[in-house]
Amino acid sequence: MANLISVIPGDGIGPVVVRSAKKVLEVISEAYGFNLSFVEAPAGDSAKKDFGEPLPKDSFDKIRSSDACLKGPVGESAKDVIVFLRQKLDLYANIRPFRTFPGVSSKWSDVDLVIVRENTEDLYKGLEDVGEEYAVALMVLTKKACLRIANVAFQIAEARKKRVTVVHKVNVLKSFELLRRATFEVAKSYPYVTIEEVLVDNAAYQLVSNPQKFDVILTTNMFGDILSDEAAGIVGSLGLAYSANIGDEFGLFEPVHGTAPDINPLYANPIAQIMASKMMLEWLGKKKNNTVMLKAARDLEDTVLCLLQDPKSLTPDLGGRATAEDVTKRFIEILLKGKRTS
Ligand code: ATP
Repeated sequence: MANLISVIPGDGIGPVVVRSAKKVLEVISEAYGFNLSFVEAPAGDSAKKDFGEPLPKDSFDKIRSSDACLKGPVGESAKDVIVFLRQKLDLYANIRPFRTFPGVSSKWSDVDLVIVRENTEDLYKGLEDVGEEYAVALMVLTKKACLRIANVAFQIAEARKKRVTVVHKVNVLKSFELLRRATFEVAKSYPYVTIEEVLVDNAAYQLVSNPQKFDVILTTNMFGDILSDEAAGIVGSLGLAYSANIGDEFGLFEPVHGTAPDINPLYANPIAQIMASKMMLEWLGKKKNNTVMLKAARDLEDTVLCLLQDPKSLTPDLGGRATAEDVTKRFIEILLKGKRTS
């Protein structure tokens, strides 16, 4: 049965890195023998220019009727596209793995953590009033959302190093008590997972001074947004940071980075977008009970690990000179070679 993937090319470096990830998916699905088909769903600043709105209804309908969405970064209209999609499709869990890769120079060598960010509430709910003399933004947390995101964090931790760190700022904002209570309530169902709580300023410090201590970081929408870019800096580049936006029915997969307007798009690092596709194959494979897709996802990650150890495959953000297209070609060579010899 075909799996229909809606594809948002996005803005800036988006079309370049999405082209690369789509090529990888086409090659991998053919090599492993599972069906993927693609439908383009324009969204972002370029869609606003071409169709008058950042998320045309036709694109939204295509996304909603697909099995999963692969999204590139969008520019100024991010709020109208990704924040809207997260809320409208109730993609409440933003899962962001960060790991150091052999071959990529970074201060640390053994970082392996996941940020689990609540994706639908907090200050990003958009309840704001901005006047000439004042500005107010409402921070919204609900028990339902805190419980379900805590459950996601504990499930992930249970399959990993069994440690959840809940990050909040309850000493200043007592609203965070809701997240705290939900986390400790959910923790009762996961007796093998250790739980600790850390204030966000302390978490930001420990992320740069002792990142190995973390396994799963559970936090709210805005703190998760900020800590993610910090974590990306620790592992070497935003070009390596990927994420999943998951709800009960649907998944949308994207890099953590933005449109990188300061670089030549041809030299964008496509690894984050490729690894976002890996998360998509994992999610689809589990959902559809497709072991071949799960194997393809594992091999995709192994191929990235191998690729990054070759300095000729590194893009400028990692100190190399490769283009996104060079990386894609090299990826396909390594993948197909591995497939032939396995
Ligand atoms: P936006 O306004 O779209 O969020 P930004 O420049 O504020 O864009 P990012 O796009 O996340 O934020 O980029 C932050 C920095 O990381 C920039 O210097 C950018 O060039 C670099 N960067 C981000 N993604 C990549 C990538 N895939 N390849 C190379 N460099 C990247």
